[in-house]
Amino acid sequence: MKKELLELEKRALEELERAGDASELERFRVSYLGKKGLVTSFMRRLGKVPSEQRPEVGKLANRIKTNLSRHFDEVSEALASGKAERSTYLDVTLPGREQPRGHLHPISLATIEVCQILSRMGFRVVTGPNVELDYYNFEALNIPKDHPARDMQDTFYISDNVVLRTHTSPIQVRVMETQRPPVSVIAPGKVYRRDSDVSHTPMFHQVEGLLVDKGVSFGDLKGTLTGFVHQMFGRDTALRFRPSFFPFTEPSAEVDIQCVICKGDGCRTCSHTGWLEILGSGMVDPEVYGFVDYDPEVYSGFAFGMGIERIAMLKYGIDDIQLFFKNDMRFLRQF
Ligand SMILES: [Zn+2]
Repeated sequence: MKKELLELEKRALEELERAGDASELERFRVSYLGKKGLVTSFMRRLGKVPSEQRPEVGKLANRIKTNLSRHFDEVSEALASGKAERSTYLDVTLPGREQPRGHLHPISLATIEVCQILSRMGFRVVTGPNVELDYYNFEALNIPKDHPARDMQDTFYISDNVVLRTHTSPIQVRVMETQRPPVSVIAPGKVYRRDSDVSHTPMFHQVEGLLVDKGVSFGDLKGTLTGFVHQMFGRDTALRFRPSFFPFTEPSAEVDIQCVICKGDGCRTCSHTGWLEILGSGMVDPEVYGFVDYDPEVYSGFAFGMGIERIAMLKYGIDDIQLFFKNDMRFLRQF
Protein backbone atom coordinates (compact mmCIF):
# COMPACT_ATOMS: atom_id res chain seq x y z
CA MET A 1 0.00 0.00 0.00
CA LYS A 2 2.74 2.45 0.99
CA LYS A 3 4.80 1.46 -2.03
CA GLU A 4 1.80 1.94 -4.28
CA LEU A 5 1.26 5.40 -2.84
CA LEU A 6 4.87 6.46 -3.28
CA GLU A 7 4.84 5.24 -6.87
CA LEU A 8 1.66 7.17 -7.48
CA GLU A 9 3.32 10.31 -6.13
CA LYS A 10 6.39 9.78 -8.26
CA ARG A 11 4.31 9.27 -11.38
CA ALA A 12 2.17 12.31 -10.63
CA LEU A 13 5.14 14.59 -10.08
CA GLU A 14 6.72 13.43 -13.31
CA GLU A 15 3.50 14.10 -15.17
CA LEU A 16 3.18 17.51 -13.59
CA GLU A 17 6.75 18.25 -14.60
CA ARG A 18 5.85 17.53 -18.22
CA ALA A 19 2.63 19.56 -18.27
CA GLY A 20 3.26 22.44 -20.66
CA ASP A 21 -0.06 24.32 -20.86
CA ALA A 22 -3.36 24.92 -19.13
CA SER A 23 -5.20 22.01 -20.75
CA GLU A 24 -2.52 19.52 -19.75
CA LEU A 25 -2.59 20.96 -16.27
CA GLU A 26 -6.34 20.55 -16.07
CA ARG A 27 -6.02 16.97 -17.24
CA PHE A 28 -3.53 16.38 -14.43
CA ARG A 29 -5.87 17.93 -11.87
CA VAL A 30 -8.80 15.76 -12.95
CA SER A 31 -6.86 12.50 -13.08
CA TYR A 32 -5.10 12.91 -9.71
CA LEU A 33 -6.77 15.53 -7.51
CA GLY A 34 -10.31 15.61 -8.93
CA LYS A 35 -13.32 13.96 -7.30
CA LYS A 36 -12.69 10.76 -9.20
CA GLY A 37 -8.93 11.28 -9.31
CA LEU A 38 -6.42 8.66 -8.22
CA VAL A 39 -5.43 10.39 -5.00
CA THR A 40 -9.01 11.00 -3.97
CA SER A 41 -10.04 7.43 -4.63
CA PHE A 42 -7.07 6.29 -2.64
CA MET A 43 -8.21 8.30 0.34
CA ARG A 44 -11.62 6.65 0.04
CA ARG A 45 -10.05 3.20 0.18
CA LEU A 46 -8.23 4.01 3.45
CA GLY A 47 -11.07 2.40 5.39
CA LYS A 48 -10.04 -0.96 3.99
CA VAL A 49 -6.47 -0.69 5.27
CA PRO A 50 -5.89 -2.92 8.33
CA SER A 51 -6.42 -0.76 11.39
CA GLU A 52 -2.87 -1.13 12.72
CA GLN A 53 -1.47 0.29 9.46
CA ARG A 54 -4.14 2.90 8.93
CA PRO A 55 -2.57 5.82 10.85
CA GLU A 56 0.72 5.46 8.97
CA VAL A 57 -0.80 5.02 5.52
CA GLY A 58 -3.31 7.80 6.19
CA LYS A 59 -0.52 10.17 7.17
CA LEU A 60 1.43 9.33 4.04
CA ALA A 61 -1.63 9.75 1.79
CA ASN A 62 -2.32 13.16 3.35
CA ARG A 63 1.24 14.28 2.89
CA ILE A 64 1.19 13.22 -0.76
CA LYS A 65 -2.12 14.96 -1.36
CA THR A 66 -0.81 18.20 0.17
CA ASN A 67 2.46 17.93 -1.72
CA LEU A 68 0.76 17.34 -5.07
CA SER A 69 -1.70 20.21 -4.47
CA ARG A 70 1.14 22.56 -3.60
CA HIS A 71 3.11 21.57 -6.71
CA PHE A 72 -0.01 21.90 -8.81
CA ASP A 73 -0.57 25.44 -7.50
CA GLU A 74 3.02 26.42 -8.12
CA VAL A 75 2.99 25.15 -11.69
CA SER A 76 -0.40 26.78 -12.38
CA GLU A 77 0.88 30.07 -11.08
CA ALA A 78 4.07 29.85 -13.07
CA LEU A 79 2.20 28.99 -16.26
CA ALA A 80 -0.39 31.72 -15.71
CA SER A 81 2.17 34.46 -15.21
CA GLY A 82 3.86 33.30 -18.38
CA LYS A 83 7.25 33.09 -16.77
CA ALA A 84 7.38 29.31 -16.74
CA GLU A 85 10.81 28.19 -17.75
CA ARG A 86 9.73 24.58 -17.68
CA SER A 87 13.02 23.15 -18.79
CA THR A 88 14.86 24.62 -15.82
CA TYR A 89 12.24 23.62 -13.25
CA LEU A 90 13.97 21.41 -10.73
CA ASP A 91 12.19 19.91 -7.78
CA VAL A 92 14.77 18.90 -5.19
CA THR A 93 12.06 17.33 -3.04
CA LEU A 94 11.32 14.61 -5.63
CA PRO A 95 12.27 11.14 -4.42
CA GLY A 96 15.45 9.89 -6.09
CA ARG A 97 15.26 7.42 -8.96
CA GLU A 98 16.58 4.08 -7.85
CA GLN A 99 19.14 2.46 -10.13
CA PRO A 100 18.95 -1.32 -10.44
CA ARG A 101 22.04 -2.88 -8.92
CA GLY A 102 23.96 -5.74 -10.47
CA HIS A 103 25.65 -8.57 -8.60
CA LEU A 104 27.95 -11.50 -9.24
CA HIS A 105 26.89 -14.57 -11.22
CA PRO A 106 26.74 -17.83 -9.17
CA ILE A 107 29.66 -19.21 -11.20
CA SER A 108 31.75 -16.16 -10.23
CA LEU A 109 30.67 -16.54 -6.61
CA ALA A 110 31.70 -20.21 -6.53
CA THR A 111 35.02 -19.47 -8.29
CA ILE A 112 35.81 -16.72 -5.81
CA GLU A 113 35.00 -18.94 -2.84
CA VAL A 114 37.11 -21.85 -4.13
CA CYS A 115 40.03 -19.49 -4.81
CA GLN A 116 39.70 -17.82 -1.41
CA ILE A 117 39.80 -21.12 0.47
CA LEU A 118 42.84 -22.37 -1.47
CA SER A 119 44.59 -18.99 -1.29
CA ARG A 120 44.36 -19.14 2.48
CA MET A 121 46.19 -22.48 2.27
CA GLY A 122 49.02 -20.77 0.40
CA PHE A 123 48.11 -21.31 -3.26
CA ARG A 124 48.73 -18.39 -5.62
CA VAL A 125 46.13 -17.65 -8.33
CA VAL A 126 47.50 -17.73 -11.90
CA THR A 127 45.82 -17.50 -15.31
CA GLY A 128 46.70 -18.44 -18.88
CA PRO A 129 45.46 -18.17 -22.47
CA ASN A 130 42.09 -19.65 -23.54
CA VAL A 131 43.49 -20.31 -27.01
CA GLU A 132 46.36 -22.69 -26.32
CA LEU A 133 49.13 -24.47 -28.16
CA ASP A 134 48.68 -28.21 -28.60
CA TYR A 135 51.99 -28.61 -26.80
CA TYR A 136 50.75 -27.11 -23.52
CA ASN A 137 47.23 -28.53 -23.69
CA PHE A 138 48.33 -32.10 -24.48
CA GLU A 139 51.97 -32.92 -25.26
CA ALA A 140 53.63 -31.54 -22.13
CA LEU A 141 50.90 -33.13 -19.99
CA ASN A 142 51.89 -36.57 -21.15
CA ILE A 143 49.06 -36.81 -23.69
CA PRO A 144 50.81 -37.81 -26.92
CA LYS A 145 49.32 -37.53 -30.41
CA ASP A 146 47.58 -40.91 -30.38
CA HIS A 147 46.04 -40.60 -26.90
CA PRO A 148 42.25 -41.11 -26.72
CA ALA A 149 41.86 -37.89 -24.68
CA ARG A 150 42.69 -36.06 -27.89
CA ASP A 151 39.68 -37.41 -29.70
CA MET A 152 38.55 -34.94 -32.36
CA GLN A 153 35.05 -35.30 -30.91
CA ASP A 154 36.12 -33.55 -27.72
CA THR A 155 38.49 -30.80 -28.79
CA PHE A 156 37.90 -27.55 -30.66
CA TYR A 157 40.85 -27.22 -33.04
CA ILE A 158 41.78 -23.76 -34.32
CA SER A 159 44.52 -25.29 -36.47
CA ASP A 160 46.65 -28.44 -36.27
CA ASN A 161 48.70 -27.00 -33.44
CA VAL A 162 46.28 -24.61 -31.77
CA VAL A 163 43.23 -25.56 -29.70
CA LEU A 164 40.72 -24.00 -27.36
CA ARG A 165 42.07 -25.34 -24.09
CA THR A 166 40.16 -28.43 -22.92
CA HIS A 167 41.27 -27.99 -19.31
CA THR A 168 43.17 -25.41 -17.23
CA SER A 169 46.14 -27.78 -16.77
CA PRO A 170 48.28 -26.11 -19.51
CA ILE A 171 48.65 -23.18 -17.09
CA GLN A 172 50.49 -25.52 -14.71
CA VAL A 173 53.04 -26.36 -17.39
CA ARG A 174 53.51 -22.66 -18.20
CA VAL A 175 54.15 -21.93 -14.51
CA MET A 176 56.62 -24.82 -14.08
CA GLU A 177 58.52 -23.68 -17.18
CA THR A 178 59.27 -20.31 -15.61
CA GLN A 179 59.51 -21.14 -11.92
CA ARG A 180 61.64 -23.58 -9.90
CA PRO A 181 60.00 -25.45 -6.97
CA PRO A 182 58.47 -24.84 -4.52
CA VAL A 183 55.45 -24.19 -6.72
CA SER A 184 51.93 -23.87 -5.34
CA VAL A 185 49.38 -22.37 -7.70
CA ILE A 186 45.70 -22.57 -8.58
CA ALA A 187 44.43 -21.79 -12.06
CA PRO A 188 40.77 -20.83 -12.54
CA GLY A 189 39.28 -20.28 -15.99
CA LYS A 190 37.01 -21.21 -18.88
CA VAL A 191 37.57 -24.45 -20.78
CA TYR A 192 36.03 -25.75 -23.99
CA ARG A 193 34.85 -29.13 -25.24
CA ARG A 194 32.65 -30.26 -28.07
CA ASP A 195 29.99 -31.49 -25.75
CA SER A 196 26.45 -30.22 -25.41
CA ASP A 197 23.52 -31.98 -23.79
CA VAL A 198 21.44 -31.84 -20.63
CA SER A 199 24.45 -32.13 -18.33
CA HIS A 200 27.21 -30.67 -20.57
CA THR A 201 27.89 -27.28 -22.09
CA PRO A 202 30.56 -26.53 -24.73
CA MET A 203 32.17 -23.97 -22.42
CA PHE A 204 32.49 -24.50 -18.69
CA HIS A 205 34.73 -23.49 -15.79
CA GLN A 206 37.49 -25.25 -13.92
CA VAL A 207 39.89 -24.59 -11.12
CA GLU A 208 43.07 -26.62 -11.02
CA GLY A 209 45.73 -26.74 -8.36
CA LEU A 210 49.38 -27.76 -8.40
CA LEU A 211 51.91 -28.16 -5.62
CA VAL A 212 55.50 -29.27 -6.24
CA ASP A 213 58.27 -29.33 -3.65
CA LYS A 214 60.71 -31.69 -1.97
CA GLY A 215 59.01 -34.57 -0.17
CA VAL A 216 55.39 -33.93 -1.15
CA SER A 217 53.34 -37.09 -0.58
CA PHE A 218 49.87 -38.42 -1.28
CA GLY A 219 49.12 -37.64 2.38
CA ASP A 220 49.62 -33.94 1.61
CA LEU A 221 47.17 -34.24 -1.28
CA LYS A 222 44.58 -35.89 0.96
CA GLY A 223 45.07 -33.33 3.71
CA THR A 224 44.76 -30.39 1.32
CA LEU A 225 41.62 -31.67 -0.38
CA THR A 226 40.00 -32.72 2.91
CA GLY A 227 40.60 -29.23 4.27
CA PHE A 228 39.17 -27.73 1.10
CA VAL A 229 36.00 -29.86 1.16
CA HIS A 230 35.40 -29.14 4.83
CA GLN A 231 35.60 -25.39 4.23
CA MET A 232 33.53 -25.48 1.06
CA PHE A 233 30.77 -27.87 2.13
CA GLY A 234 30.99 -27.96 5.92
CA ARG A 235 33.08 -29.74 8.54
CA ASP A 236 30.85 -32.79 8.76
CA THR A 237 31.07 -33.60 5.04
CA ALA A 238 32.67 -37.02 4.56
CA LEU A 239 34.87 -37.63 1.52
CA ARG A 240 36.48 -40.65 -0.10
CA PHE A 241 39.29 -41.20 -2.58
CA ARG A 242 38.70 -43.64 -5.44
CA PRO A 243 41.56 -44.91 -7.65
CA SER A 244 41.32 -43.49 -11.16
CA PHE A 245 43.42 -42.69 -14.21
CA PHE A 246 44.65 -39.41 -15.68
CA PRO A 247 47.53 -39.18 -18.18
CA PHE A 248 49.43 -36.54 -16.18
CA THR A 249 49.13 -37.99 -12.65
CA GLU A 250 50.24 -41.30 -11.18
CA PRO A 251 48.73 -42.57 -8.99
CA SER A 252 45.42 -40.80 -9.60
CA ALA A 253 42.30 -40.57 -7.51
CA GLU A 254 38.83 -39.20 -7.92
CA VAL A 255 37.31 -37.56 -4.88
CA ASP A 256 33.69 -38.07 -3.85
CA ILE A 257 31.90 -36.19 -1.11
CA GLN A 258 28.97 -37.43 0.87
CA CYS A 259 25.81 -36.33 -0.95
CA VAL A 260 24.99 -32.81 0.21
CA ILE A 261 21.29 -33.32 -0.54
CA CYS A 262 20.54 -36.60 1.31
CA LYS A 263 23.60 -36.69 3.61
CA GLY A 264 24.47 -40.17 2.36
CA ASP A 265 21.08 -41.85 2.58
CA GLY A 266 20.68 -42.01 -1.21
CA CYS A 267 18.62 -39.74 -3.48
CA ARG A 268 18.16 -38.88 -7.17
CA THR A 269 21.03 -36.37 -7.25
CA CYS A 270 23.56 -39.01 -6.11
CA SER A 271 21.88 -41.87 -8.08
CA HIS A 272 21.11 -43.46 -4.70
CA THR A 273 24.78 -44.07 -3.92
CA GLY A 274 25.06 -41.43 -1.21
CA TRP A 275 28.23 -40.06 -2.88
CA LEU A 276 28.93 -37.28 -5.38
CA GLU A 277 32.06 -37.02 -7.49
CA ILE A 278 33.55 -33.53 -7.25
CA LEU A 279 37.16 -33.58 -8.37
CA GLY A 280 40.05 -35.44 -9.95
CA SER A 281 43.52 -35.52 -8.45
CA GLY A 282 46.80 -37.37 -8.23
CA MET A 283 50.55 -37.21 -7.83
CA VAL A 284 52.19 -35.44 -10.79
CA ASP A 285 53.49 -38.06 -13.23
CA PRO A 286 57.33 -37.94 -13.34
CA GLU A 287 57.02 -37.87 -17.15
CA VAL A 288 55.57 -34.34 -16.87
CA TYR A 289 58.67 -33.13 -14.98
CA GLY A 290 60.75 -34.10 -17.99
CA PHE A 291 59.02 -31.42 -20.07
CA VAL A 292 59.82 -28.64 -17.59
CA ASP A 293 63.25 -29.79 -16.51
CA TYR A 294 62.46 -30.67 -12.87
CA ASP A 295 64.40 -33.58 -11.39
CA PRO A 296 61.82 -36.26 -10.38
CA GLU A 297 64.42 -37.75 -8.01
CA VAL A 298 64.38 -34.51 -6.02
CA TYR A 299 60.88 -33.16 -6.42
CA SER A 300 57.38 -34.56 -6.14
CA GLY A 301 53.98 -32.94 -6.18
CA PHE A 302 50.27 -33.26 -6.58
CA ALA A 303 47.63 -31.77 -8.84
CA PHE A 304 43.86 -31.58 -8.69
CA GLY A 305 41.07 -30.12 -10.78
CA MET A 306 37.39 -29.51 -10.38
CA GLY A 307 34.47 -28.22 -12.43
CA ILE A 308 33.04 -25.01 -11.01
CA GLU A 309 29.54 -25.66 -12.37
CA ARG A 310 29.49 -28.92 -10.45
CA ILE A 311 30.67 -27.23 -7.24
CA ALA A 312 28.14 -24.41 -7.64
CA MET A 313 25.28 -26.86 -8.31
CA LEU A 314 26.05 -28.79 -5.13
CA LYS A 315 26.74 -25.71 -3.06
CA TYR A 316 23.56 -23.86 -4.05
CA GLY A 317 21.33 -26.88 -4.70
CA ILE A 318 20.84 -26.30 -8.44
CA ASP A 319 19.82 -29.32 -10.53
CA ASP A 320 20.16 -27.99 -14.10
CA ILE A 321 23.52 -26.84 -15.51
CA GLN A 322 21.79 -24.96 -18.35
CA LEU A 323 20.45 -22.43 -15.81
CA PHE A 324 23.95 -20.95 -15.49
CA PHE A 325 23.94 -19.95 -19.14
CA LYS A 326 20.35 -18.91 -19.81
CA ASN A 327 20.63 -15.54 -18.04
CA ASP A 328 17.12 -15.84 -16.69
CA MET A 329 16.83 -12.95 -14.24
CA ARG A 330 14.40 -14.87 -12.02
CA PHE A 331 17.19 -17.41 -11.45
CA LEU A 332 20.08 -14.96 -11.18
CA ARG A 333 18.32 -12.62 -8.74
CA GLN A 334 18.37 -15.35 -6.10
CA PHE A 335 22.11 -14.95 -5.55
ZN1 LIG B 1 21.91 -38.04 -2.35
